[in-house]
Amino acid sequence: MPRILTGIQCTGRPHLGNVLGAMLPTLELAAKPTYDTFIFLADLHTLTTLKDSQERRNYVYAAAAAWLALGLDPAKVTFYRQSKVPAVCELVWYLSCFTPYPMLANAHAFKDKADRMSMVSAGLFTYPILMAADILLYHADIVPVGKDQLQHLEITRDIATSFNQQYGPVFHLPQALIDNSIATVPGIDGQKMSKSYHNTIDIFLPEKELRKLVMRIQTDSKSVAESKDPDTCIVFKLYSLVANTTDIDTMRKNYTAGGYGYGQAKEELFATILERFAVAREKFAQYITDISNLEKILMSGEAKASVVATETLSTIRGKLGY
Ligand code: ATP
Ligand code: MG
Repeated sequence: MPRILTGIQCTGRPHLGNVLGAMLPTLELAAKPTYDTFIFLADLHTLTTLKDSQERRNYVYAAAAAWLALGLDPAKVTFYRQSKVPAVCELVWYLSCFTPYPMLANAHAFKDKADRMSMVSAGLFTYPILMAADILLYHADIVPVGKDQLQHLEITRDIATSFNQQYGPVFHLPQALIDNSIATVPGIDGQKMSKSYHNTIDIFLPEKELRKLVMRIQTDSKSVAESKDPDTCIVFKLYSLVANTTDIDTMRKNYTAGGYGYGQAKEELFATILERFAVAREKFAQYITDISNLEKILMSGEAKASVVATETLSTIRGKLGY
């Protein structure tokens, strides 16, 4: 059975972009009986930017609660924290000895920061090796990724190929799975919604705070009476990602007709988010208030993941003469 593996960084609470762009599509795949799915919380990766231990712990629990609230079934999916299977760190060392320096130096994530080199830690530089280890340790066949992660997957394949050429076919070569139908969700300022841009909509917030966020979405200053362009409006874009076709059509007509204000559009967006995620929000609130239950679920996933990791590492050690 082909294995699908995916991980999400926990540098903040999961937001609407993560939910629509990664979590729900992954859970849809996981629901198919044809796949063996591994989903992990990439809490080691977060150390490159996030140094506060309490904050990290909170984000990890929030991410775990969000996955479960959105329907992850821990009996079917191997669900674990990256840090709790430390075999991945040992594998990073082995793989790093098969990774040419220029390959890392050419990685976009590193190159983007080339003008601020003093802020680049060795951890950030070798970040793609940790990602390769995440994938190769568990023999993942398919890795759902956004376009921004495609290069990292190529690096993973190159490292695996280099190792396999010397030691035989140890690692599976993972395939990227890109779903071009997944839209980029805009943040409240119109840029791509991203934790690092602080422009996110956290759908699991209490109602009052969530409403405040929705009301902060930027718009132009057209009056209620004026006709508005739905296609350049962030509120409409977000609405069209969460509402049903009939309601989207109605809002589009309201925009062009005039006599319909942004405040009203925001109220409708807010109501639709509440409605669409009502079950998930309720479950999230339950999970997040019962940490010992979350721990229990994660630990059982970590035990399953460890079995695979130990087996892979023992093969690698044997190949390398350790
Ligand atoms: P960071 O700011 O740390 O990069 P992020 O908010 O961009 O965080 P990631 O951890 O980079 O989130 O992304 C996790 C997953 O969510 C990825 O698969 C990514 O493609 C998806 N994703 C993130 N933001 C969006 C978005 N705005 N629209 C659609 N998908 C998104
Ligand atoms: Mg990102």
